[in-house]
Amino acid sequence: MSNLTLEEIQNFKGKYPKQLWYLFLVEMWERFCFYGMRGVLTIFMADQVLGLSLSDKEANLKYGAIQAFVYAFTFIGGIFADKILGFKKSLFFGGLVMIAGNIIIAVAPQNFFFIGITLSIIGTGFFKPNISSMVGELYREGDDRRDAGFGLFYSGINIGALLGGAVCVYLGTSADFGWSYAFLSAAIVMIIGLITFLFTQKTLGPIGDSPLLALPKNTRITKEIMVYLGALVCIPLIFIMIKNTDYTDYFMYSIGPVAIFYFLYETYKEKERKAQKKLLAALIFILFSIAFWAFFEQSGGSLALFAKNNLHSDLLFFQINPNIVNNTSNALFVIIFSPLLGLLWLAMAKKKIEPNTVIKFGIGFLFLAGAFYLFYYTRFFADSNGLTSLNTFTLAYLVITFGELALSPIGLSIMTKLSPKRLSGMMMGLWFLASAYGQYAAGLLGAGMSSPDDSAPLVKKLQLYTEGYHQLAIYALIAGIILIVLSPLVRKLMQEVK
Ligand code: GLN
Repeated sequence: MSNLTLEEIQNFKGKYPKQLWYLFLVEMWERFCFYGMRGVLTIFMADQVLGLSLSDKEANLKYGAIQAFVYAFTFIGGIFADKILGFKKSLFFGGLVMIAGNIIIAVAPQNFFFIGITLSIIGTGFFKPNISSMVGELYREGDDRRDAGFGLFYSGINIGALLGGAVCVYLGTSADFGWSYAFLSAAIVMIIGLITFLFTQKTLGPIGDSPLLALPKNTRITKEIMVYLGALVCIPLIFIMIKNTDYTDYFMYSIGPVAIFYFLYETYKEKERKAQKKLLAALIFILFSIAFWAFFEQSGGSLALFAKNNLHSDLLFFQINPNIVNNTSNALFVIIFSPLLGLLWLAMAKKKIEPNTVIKFGIGFLFLAGAFYLFYYTRFFADSNGLTSLNTFTLAYLVITFGELALSPIGLSIMTKLSPKRLSGMMMGLWFLASAYGQYAAGLLGAGMSSPDDSAPLVKKLQLYTEGYHQLAIYALIAGIILIVLSPLVRKLMQEVK
């Protein structure tokens, strides 16, 4: 088992390689930990008694900052995996740091919150991009089954997200348990995830091994230790930056340009022209994904407020809190439809009618436009109190989920198809860095849509939000059309990759 070669792994029979199921489980637990932590973040910070007693506004700003940092560090985690650690060690180290972060918070949430969150940021940076890169390596070049594999993997992500959000919020807000239990449970599931990885990593054969295996052991280990120490040295820096939200802005202004310069430098260093073109194609996908996430991530901001203020609680034949719909429907729809869509891609590939990635991205934006059009359309069902249809809102979530499925797992997949092996961690990191900017822009967009006056009548809030959604629908439509029109050009850059 331990001596599996890459060819043996990649020549698997059936729809999915068995290693995918292991990575699915590991990522599921990691996302449980991540979304569990994320789910309680804002409420914990704004809790005036047992939390950090921040104002709502401050808590929201910090939430945005932490989100941006988490995804920004994937870029750095990806680079160190490529150059020194390899994906396996990077993932393991990241997991350990995430566990430490959550345990530290669990010990004394009010005292150690920021230090623990700093560790979670660093840990996620080393973990998150690299597990996706390993999924990509299970497939040989040109294997039509890759997008379906990422579809299944994406389902695992969302099972973890859904469970983590539910369990940690329940524990954190319950009078019988409390915040410590929420963070402790996140740490425990991450331990389960790492143990799963430990027991199954042999099946990955050479996938994710350090790129420095040819070097003398001592030299290699010294370099590895330098990375671990470097990560620890970053702790105070990140700590200061999340404590002061102004620094987050400076960080966000600089990390993107630095990343692009570094990307261009690495692209320039590539010897083959073909490889350079593929990298540029990947950059185009990454840039479009920023816009996608900026719209999509309204879910955590303006859509959550819209759900809280402007929706009835009737869904089909029963009553439900609209915020539960806002927080869970997307993950539920992903869990159900992601594998199904994967099977559809497989069936289409067999008939040679599978759309290529550029068109899939374009379709993703068209669904996004459709969803925001539906969010906008809710205004026509509103009563005189400014309350409107939860059914239409939920339908919009179904539509936005199809948009996500046409773009997000496909984006992971295309990163692994277009990147040369030596840069695959960095490119996956860049993909997630785009999410960081998306999150960041989502906050700005949401703030732009909200009423300057908190006590404005609900009818007025409804008008402002839905007008904003109308605009987003139009921009998403334009982005989708641009992508489809540009598709011949991007396909040229992509060479033979589909
Ligand atoms: N929901 C997905 C995940 O957690 C995608 C996140 C993203 O790229 N913004 O992996």
